[in-house]
Amino acid sequence: MDAEEFRTRGRQMVDYVADYLETIGSRRPLPDVTPGYLRELIPNTAPDKGENFNNVMADLDRVIMPGLTHWHSPQFHAYFPASNSFPALLGDILSGGLGAIGFTWASNPACTELELVMMDWLGKMLQLPSHFLYSESVTGGGIIQSSSSESALMALLCARTEVIRKLQKHNPDMSKGQVLDKLVAYTSIESHSCIERAAMIGLVTIRVLPSDDHGALRGATLEKAVKEDKAKGNIPFYLGACIGTTTRCTFDNLKELGPICTDNNMWMHIDAAYAGSACICPEFRYILDGIEHADSFALNPHKWLQVNHDCTAMWVKDKDLMEGAFHIDYYILRHVNNGVRMPDFRHWQIPFGRRFRSLKLWFVMRSFGVSGLQATIRKDVSLAKHFESLVRADSRFEIVAEVVLGLVCFRLKGDNNKNERLNQLIKEDGRIHMTPSKVKDMYFLRFAICATRTQEADVNFAWDIVQAMANKVIAMSNGITNGFTKHG
Ligand SMILES: *Cc1c(COP(=O)(O)O)cnc(C)c1O
Repeated sequence: MDAEEFRTRGRQMVDYVADYLETIGSRRPLPDVTPGYLRELIPNTAPDKGENFNNVMADLDRVIMPGLTHWHSPQFHAYFPASNSFPALLGDILSGGLGAIGFTWASNPACTELELVMMDWLGKMLQLPSHFLYSESVTGGGIIQSSSSESALMALLCARTEVIRKLQKHNPDMSKGQVLDKLVAYTSIESHSCIERAAMIGLVTIRVLPSDDHGALRGATLEKAVKEDKAKGNIPFYLGACIGTTTRCTFDNLKELGPICTDNNMWMHIDAAYAGSACICPEFRYILDGIEHADSFALNPHKWLQVNHDCTAMWVKDKDLMEGAFHIDYYILRHVNNGVRMPDFRHWQIPFGRRFRSLKLWFVMRSFGVSGLQATIRKDVSLAKHFESLVRADSRFEIVAEVVLGLVCFRLKGDNNKNERLNQLIKEDGRIHMTPSKVKDMYFLRFAICATRTQEADVNFAWDIVQAMANKVIAMSNGITNGFTKHG
């Protein structure tokens, strides 16, 4: 393909994407395919000779669309949102087109430098303490990672390296393995699996602690666990706290947890993958109260800040720890900085290479403006509140967690079976897509406001479906209690 054809194909592809997104409301959110569907549709081996790109374009509708889940459908209410916006897509085209890899400052100065400024812009929008900002401190700063999972892992590995270094300094006979055996990390039962996974990958014990009645991990719970572990001779070293849990968007109590981490020399990482973005609105900023205690903090603009996947914003209080924990001096990568210290982001992350992701943030923040981004968050929260009011108006249902942001967790009063049946019927109906969850043996449905295209009419539409399916479930269970089951 030459540049001339690229121009034509590029316009064609942009049209394809714009048409797809404009008409997405007419598609059912979930595809109707079974595992293995795709293999039947394309050859088993790559073509020997290059094909005309017309054939490739034609296969999008034949091969891909039938198996695509439409995350940006206004009827998609599963998991948490995946952001998408036209300015972000333009940023991705440019990033791919420039194709300049930014592992060190010198390998692509614009990539590193725009990232520093964008992380500060975003940090200021979130009113982060100045010790997280490049422009206001000498110690802290931010980086764009590809996921919240990697951020939690990097934080854990960094904390682990630091504690091993300190212990071995005072106990030179102790091996790394002996330290590892004693290390204990903590998280709450409601937090995302990525924290437990970070501990598994990091070969350390993790204790999954209970949450309180509001779904929060509390200081007293952590303190008790830390004391128990210390009494056994173990070494508490890391807390993975969560702001906006995936199960039901609850919030760990940072103000209580922070001082306990400080007193016990533990690294506090805050995973705010979804909820963090909402804190650009002053009325939700209180959610981050206590963040001043954190050693690291991450949120996903690719979830709720109009930036398409992938883009995770992570800040650390001490960038020297981050840059020093896994530092390898590699001759080919040495560069002259003229005395100005710039981060070499290869040290801060697991991969070596990195894309120019800050372009997306730059385009999005400039196109929407702070007030425009705040408006998108507020719209989603008000739609969730609207759904909540519909649920509350029907006495057969109950709300299972306070609705603070864009997620409503609810269930039919009564046993789990009923709710599992309700979920099954909604799934079979197929007009909306939700994912259920379970906490402390309580099964419930989650209704998340996901797509930017979702409007009040879509929320009403979803509620009508839920009510209709609930009528069926209740009719069925009345049938069973009266002895009129299908099976007699
Ligand atoms: C979505 C989510 C994650 C996972 O995010 P990735 O960027 O895909 O790793 C982690 N934690 C919470 C609370 C989430 O909601």
